[in-house]
Parts: sequence; C-alpha cells; structure tokens
Amino acid sequence: MKRVLLAAGLLLAGCQAAPGPTAAASCSLPAATVLEQSGDPHGANGRLLQVWEIADDPALWGEGTPVSEGYRDFLSKVVATGIETDPVKLLQASPATGNLKINNDLVVSRAAEWIRPAGCFEKYLVGYQHARIDTFVAPTEFMAMVLRSADGARLRIYFYTINQDGIGRVSPVSEPALADVKQGWRVVLGMHTHAFHPGQPMLDGILAPSIADADFNANFSESGGMQSAWITNGIHTVRIPAEAFGLFRRE
Ligand SMILES: [Zn+2]
Repeated sequence: MKRVLLAAGLLLAGCQAAPGPTAAASCSLPAATVLEQSGDPHGANGRLLQVWEIADDPALWGEGTPVSEGYRDFLSKVVATGIETDPVKLLQASPATGNLKINNDLVVSRAAEWIRPAGCFEKYLVGYQHARIDTFVAPTEFMAMVLRSADGARLRIYFYTINQDGIGRVSPVSEPALADVKQGWRVVLGMHTHAFHPGQPMLDGILAPSIADADFNANFSESGGMQSAWITNGIHTVRIPAEAFGLFRRE
C-alpha cells in the first residue's frame, strides 16, 4: 500500500504540466509574505509567521501531489521507515486516558466521515515544514489559518511555526485572522499538524484534537466563525466541522 502511494506520487509529479482528466491536479503556492521571522529556519529556535494571498485554486483542495521536494522527501521516509499510517490504528494504539481518550474515541467513531487522505494543500505545507526541519529527526508542529474573501475569490493563508514540537500560543495566527474577519473575510479552516512520532504511541500521528485544541476550536468558532478544524500528519487529515466542536471534551 505504501509502495503504491509512492508510485502514485512519482507518477503525478511526472505529469504536472498536463494532468489527465482522471489525475488529481498538482498544486503549489507562490512565495509568501514574511510577517515575522527569527532564529535559524532549520534549527529548534526558528520562528516564522507568513501569509500567502492568492486566487483560490481548486487544485489545493484535491488529492494531487504537491510540487514540493520537501513532501517528496517526507513521503519517501514514511515509506522507507515502514511506520504505521492507518489513522484509526494509531488512535487505538494511544494510551490516552480520561477526556483525551474520549476525544480520541469520538474521532474513531466518526473516522469514516471525518478522516481522508491528506489533500494537496496539507501535503504542500507538511513538505514545507519538513524542509525546514526533518520530521523524522525532530517532529515539529505548524499551524495554518485559511480565510476566504467576502467575494469568495481570494484566499489568505497564514502559516506559523516555532520549529518546536508544539506551537504554544496561537495568537500570532488568530489575531490577524480576527482582524481580517472584521474586514469581511471568513475563516474557512484552521489546520495544524500532529506529526508522526514513531515509538511514542501517545503522540504518533494522532488525528484527534488535544484538550487544548478542542478548547481553541470551540472558542475560535465563536469569536472568529472558524468553519472547520483540520489536523494532518501528512498522510491523512481529520476535518472536523464546527457543528461537531461541541462534542469534544475541553478540559
Ligand atoms: Zn494539536
């Protein structure tokens, strides 16, 4: 199965210029506008806040393979290491207890509805972060916030990371997004990573919100109108609609 994934990736990469009618189109993003940057981009102190503003591109939301050396390398390492990627098996392997387990179990019960192979957008950003810091050397998180213009034609995509295995306060992303909402933009989705942590089942690519994630989702749905919360590990993504945020334990 994993070999098939890699072969499909190579195949798609080979026909980027003219994907056939049945091939998922490839995607990429242009250079971003850097808002804040400090530290070593490839080191543990590398902080980056940037934004892309682009015309919406349907290829981002398909399942094509991104134009991304970073993603190609990430995928080759997933295959080479032979790690477990089945999102339900990963959730079931977690030793989480209490409310965290309740949240994990909720996603397992809705997996058929909420979990899909990662889309081109998620794969592009995972590749982007993997090129900053190799996932299999030091797993790190990033957060992205996607807003759509009032006329529906344009996207604003914030990207934030501190090159750590967590993102800390999310205000560097949520505050500009709230300012945009006041200007008529809508928060389509907030996405962050739960990277693979081979050998650490509590953290290993877990596609369910942590308690803090669930609390943020509910709060930001209320204050910013966030419509969906996505968590990706680069192979699969859970996409939780705002209507379901209230089902998760928040403390
Ligand atoms: Zn999280």
